[in-house]
Amino acid sequence: MTRHFDVLVVGAGSAGSAIASRLSEDATCRVGLIEAGHMPADPDIADPLKWTQIQGRDYDWAYRTTPQPFTANRVHEWPRGKVVGGSSCLHAMAYVRGHPDDFVPWEKAGGARWSYEGLLPYFKRSEAFAAFPAASRGNTGPLDVILPEEAVSPIARAYMAAGNALGAPKISDHNTSPLNGTTPNSLNIRDGRRLSVADAYLTPEVLARRNLTLLNGYEIERIEFNGTRAAGVLAVVDRIAERVSADRVVLCAGAISSPLILMRSGIGDPEALRSAGIHCHIESREVGANLQDHLLALGNVYRSKKPVPPSRLQHSESLMYLHSKDVTRAYGSPDIVLGCVVAPSAAEGLEAPAYGSAYTILCGVTHPTSRGRILPGGPTRSDTPIIDPHYLETEYDRLTFRTALKIAREVGHHSALAEWRDVEIQPGPAAHTDAALDDFIARAASTHHHPCGTCRMGGDDNAVVDPSLRVKGLENVFVVDASIIPQIPSGPINAAVVAIAESWAASAPSLA
Ligand SMILES: Cc1cc2nc3c(=O)[nH]c(=O)nc-3n(C[C@H](O)[C@H](O)[C@H](O)COP(=O)(O)OP(=O)(O)OC[C@H]3O[C@@H](n4cnc5c(N)ncnc54)[C@H](O)[C@@H]3O)c2cc1C
Repeated sequence: MTRHFDVLVVGAGSAGSAIASRLSEDATCRVGLIEAGHMPADPDIADPLKWTQIQGRDYDWAYRTTPQPFTANRVHEWPRGKVVGGSSCLHAMAYVRGHPDDFVPWEKAGGARWSYEGLLPYFKRSEAFAAFPAASRGNTGPLDVILPEEAVSPIARAYMAAGNALGAPKISDHNTSPLNGTTPNSLNIRDGRRLSVADAYLTPEVLARRNLTLLNGYEIERIEFNGTRAAGVLAVVDRIAERVSADRVVLCAGAISSPLILMRSGIGDPEALRSAGIHCHIESREVGANLQDHLLALGNVYRSKKPVPPSRLQHSESLMYLHSKDVTRAYGSPDIVLGCVVAPSAAEGLEAPAYGSAYTILCGVTHPTSRGRILPGGPTRSDTPIIDPHYLETEYDRLTFRTALKIAREVGHHSALAEWRDVEIQPGPAAHTDAALDDFIARAASTHHHPCGTCRMGGDDNAVVDPSLRVKGLENVFVVDASIIPQIPSGPINAAVVAIAESWAASAPSLA
């Protein structure tokens, strides 16, 4: 017999975990939560220091981009969680709401609900700054946020002191405005362990609700329709196809998979679908388009004069958001970011000294203007998708990146780091011309892991979802995850994804 739910949530990642938990608070609402992966079984997931080591394991979708002409024709690895908790089981745990001005394009796209002020109650609803309560923070939500104090590495402290000496303001944390300045990262860690969004929202008590069914190991092939209404989905479990029906389908499969599921279901650009051998059911030209991501140069690496003490947090301890034209500016959304990693962090193919002998300053652009696209490689889930982020395609991105690298080096060469700095290893003392810096950036730029925008939300005709996050042209299908972000915020996006989910869940009962 076909299973039937009032609401079927596809993907138990950051957004899907929060939505399934909130919707199932109403005991009369039968919620199905479908996830391709399984419950996390690898103890390394919980260890904050192992987040870089767990990529590529069997719970990683392990996507790869097409070769990127502006990053030395490199193919970039894109890890994504295939596990209950999704990418929040792989992420680096930094919790950054974003700068309030980051949400101005969201408000333009979808109205006041998507402004910073409109989202603020939902950021706060998700947050538990239990040990650091403040009126500007959420204090009683499921998602713990810690502000590390004594655990911060002495190298990260010296890097922040260098930033301050250059004029960057000191800020208390990344989540009470302004965002610009120096602070250790706020982190989703509880009792020394990673707190994935599933750990926070899908507690054993929530999973025990009689009206919530978690179907893990179910990979969605496509949505099935009666005209403009979804009847349900076709899933594959243990190589067997199974239909699951629902009154409403909510795609929370993430910025890569949500547009792919829509396109496999015949929702997309007719020509792109035809090339992949898919019949077009509803024309929606921007499905998979508007792909945005942050890049970080890995990295401006320094050999240390003395052994680097191992990180007591998650290696990458302090993101520093700045205005490149005036690093002292405390207001307005920043255009560059630096980061301090208390370990050598070099892109593939670049020299990386031994662990414990070096540290790294990362740099990148907060609001890249290059836009990429995701396309299906064929009609089924087994066809490898074509992921083309168009990295560094615009001159703005390349010039701003170069400026970010110059400022990273100013910080790295500052006397506040003299106690630690021996020699610069990457890009190295010989790299001083703009051409040399550009060449280094092309070889060093790597994803900061924030792909988004591929099912853009907006009131205009070409947007994929409307401001209620309903897929245009369909009556009962919604996308609620990183895909709907119209323009990438300054920082890591997990906090914003959870706030999107909280906001949508609060409005869901009113959406027929
Ligand atoms: C290595 C790494 C480091 C990061 N670091 C940070 C950080 O420090 N701070 C931060 O804020 N953000 C960080 N991010 C980004 C952040 O984790 C993501 O933006 C966020 O988790 C996205 O949430 P989502 O709900 O959109 O998608 P996901 O969390 O990826 O969830 C999608 C879910 O859908 C499932 N799914 C996909 N396709 C199907 C299908 N066909 N059938 C069934 N299920 C399916 C997936 O298995 C997954 O569980 C990082 C990400 C990575 C990978």
